[in-house]
Amino acid sequence: MYVKKGDIAGNWQEGELVPYGNLEISPSAGVLNYGQGVFEGLKAYRTADDSILMFRPEENALRMVHGAERMSMPAPDVDTFINAVKQTVLANKRWVPPTGKGSLYIRPLLIGTGPILGLAPAPEYTFLVYVSPVGTYFKGGLSPIDLKVETYFHRAAPGGTGGVKTISNYAPVLKTQYTAKGKGYSDVVYLDAKENKYVEEVSSCNIFVVKDKVISTPELAGTILPGITRNSIIQLARSRGYEVNERPVSVDELLAADEVFCTGTAVVVNPVGSVTHGTKRVLYNHGVVGGVSQELYEALTSIQMGVSKDEFDWVVE
Ligand code: PMP
Repeated sequence: MYVKKGDIAGNWQEGELVPYGNLEISPSAGVLNYGQGVFEGLKAYRTADDSILMFRPEENALRMVHGAERMSMPAPDVDTFINAVKQTVLANKRWVPPTGKGSLYIRPLLIGTGPILGLAPAPEYTFLVYVSPVGTYFKGGLSPIDLKVETYFHRAAPGGTGGVKTISNYAPVLKTQYTAKGKGYSDVVYLDAKENKYVEEVSSCNIFVVKDKVISTPELAGTILPGITRNSIIQLARSRGYEVNERPVSVDELLAADEVFCTGTAVVVNPVGSVTHGTKRVLYNHGVVGGVSQELYEALTSIQMGVSKDEFDWVVE
């Protein structure tokens, strides 16, 4: 893994590659006591000719800069971030699975490691990058998932930190996701905290609905993570002639959709087979993968794996 340390004024030491292992950390570190930390997730793919491609790392770097600012932390600049990611991937090249067998998941993390007892930003920071090979999300190809609408708990409040990738955003979803999984659902759909009426996102992915071939996804109003896959799918779908709207999407529209899918680094494009809201369960497309999800999944993954032309300049070697 790659480790780089800095102070609150943004003075960074030289970063270095070290073997993956535990960190030594103060019990009063900002991250342990006040959740001062942001992270990213991206993937590297091995192509048929053995090159390693990363997908839009600059977007992850910029999202970390933005998130760090919201959490009162200095962040590594875009070049430092991309360099650190490249170094880590290169040092772990042998762990990138063969084409079609998965990818190397890359986890950049920025945490307040300096001691701070009173509530304040930590005096020191650690930026690190570690990686892990991951398989394809769905074993036998695309497979629709079952979601449950959560009407009591919310993941993000207006004016809070829902729009940045801070570690504390995942605390509110642990219990709801775990409980839903225990009942046989794959994940949870969160609604807005103000009216409990509009769809926001799933625990770790964004959501899209398709009605009469028109694609809609909840607008970014500060309580939804601006997913890089979400942005890519919007651009890809528009380039293929679809109308795509970013706007409030009500739970009623979700239930009345022809097709629903989720997007994220881990799941790429993830078709939704059913949504349960209270006692009502809606099955989409008779529970099989919808045509729009299938088309966009194939279009995106073929760019990510270097199979089709990257007209958007998204992949980086
Ligand atoms: N929403 C949440 C809450 C997430 O954790 C993620 C994963 N980063 C996403 C959406 C999708 O974002 P991306 O496409 O950048 O992975």
